[in-house]
Amino acid sequence: VDANRTLNVAVFGATGSIGTATAEVIAHLNRVDTQLKWRMWAASGHRNLERLAQIVSAADPAPHRAVLSDPTFADSDRARQIATVRPGMSITYGPDALVEVAQSPEVDIVVAAIVGRAGLESTLAAVEAGKRVALANKETLVVAGPLVRRAMVASGAEILPVDSEHSAIFQCMGTSASPSTTQPPPKPKKLILTASGGPFRTWTKEQMQAATVESALAHPTWNMGAKISIDSATMMNKSLEIIEARWLFDLPADAIEVVVHPQSIIHSMVEFDDGSVIAQMSPPDMKLPIQYALTYPRRLECESPGLDRSRRWDLSLEVADHDRFPGLALGFEVAAAGGTAGAVVNAANEEAVGLFLNGQIRFTDIVSGCRDVFQNHTHESDPPLSRLLELDIWARKETRNRFQL
Ligand code: NAD
Ligand code: MG
Repeated sequence: VDANRTLNVAVFGATGSIGTATAEVIAHLNRVDTQLKWRMWAASGHRNLERLAQIVSAADPAPHRAVLSDPTFADSDRARQIATVRPGMSITYGPDALVEVAQSPEVDIVVAAIVGRAGLESTLAAVEAGKRVALANKETLVVAGPLVRRAMVASGAEILPVDSEHSAIFQCMGTSASPSTTQPPPKPKKLILTASGGPFRTWTKEQMQAATVESALAHPTWNMGAKISIDSATMMNKSLEIIEARWLFDLPADAIEVVVHPQSIIHSMVEFDDGSVIAQMSPPDMKLPIQYALTYPRRLECESPGLDRSRRWDLSLEVADHDRFPGLALGFEVAAAGGTAGAVVNAANEEAVGLFLNGQIRFTDIVSGCRDVFQNHTHESDPPLSRLLELDIWARKETRNRFQL
């Protein structure tokens, strides 16, 4: 890259937890990067107009584009007002506006930080357009992993993980590359995903049956959006991450393991054929994996706190409990099955999480609902995108039916 060039970053889901951290990372990079300039070229929000207005007001330099992905706001007075926040910035509406930004020649990097299957089309468009994609939206790989991989190979897009576990694995794999040759690094034997265990790590099944929304949202080590917080409590987040790892690193499900690590300092590990295990460590803060996905292969000073060596850190590893967290086994099954399995289970999970947050089902119904819907579907091994999207709708209905809703 040319010295002093500006890298244009499109942030999809800018109003969310990852999006907000990304805006801070971009502002920080403009203070510390002596080689490149950074611009949040586009920022999207779905319904939170106030937050989107704040994000585009604070960005320096000014964004070129704001996107409101919920089309019901199109041309409302309040939405038009956002465009006036920065001179020269325009605003566009609806899911197609995201795809258009993803394909814009000016955009260098797309940060895919929309939550859920809703992020699929815009993420896929960025991959098809050959962009660098900083991928937080794990659900896209869960739903359509093989299609995303194919698009990546065809376009030459780079998919760099933002999910802290996958960033850790990516970083660990790089360390075994020989410094003196251009040979690719050896293939890992096992990817060992760490899991905090979430707020219910020590709860009994009975306690979990009666878990409230508040207690499920209270994550011990990470501060995140509602959907991923509930996923962490059920450990479906780890299941989604098993499937994400399967497609991101193109390794079979049986090369992936999960270990519980409550402190969230070891973000994941890689084991090689000789038994050597490499781990990546840092205090829990998403700014590090976000920044690394933006600046890779460069490493710049980061606002995330470093590991403080003047105090004691306990790093404990526990065996994951498949009995209390049955979603884990489901994750391995779905990763092994491929095909339509990911789309179905992801949709069932999204629907069930929504029902739980609305107080319509119990906490433990989330995973049992996912399991039932998975078992009620007829597996297809090489579905096109249109079929995956049909099954997404089917699985949501099936989930509601299961609870007579
Ligand atoms: P969040 O709920 O804080 O933000 C979600 C964003 O998506 C918001 O900007 C929202 O406006 C947008 N959005 C919601 N529905 C949409 C729709 N239908 N169409 C378009 N945009 C929509 O979520 P988050 O915690 O920032 O998570 C975002 C993604 O990153 C998720 O896939 C999550 O699994 C992943 N992730 C998050 C973290 C974390 O620490 N928060 C860590 C790893 C991975
Ligand atoms: Mg994660």
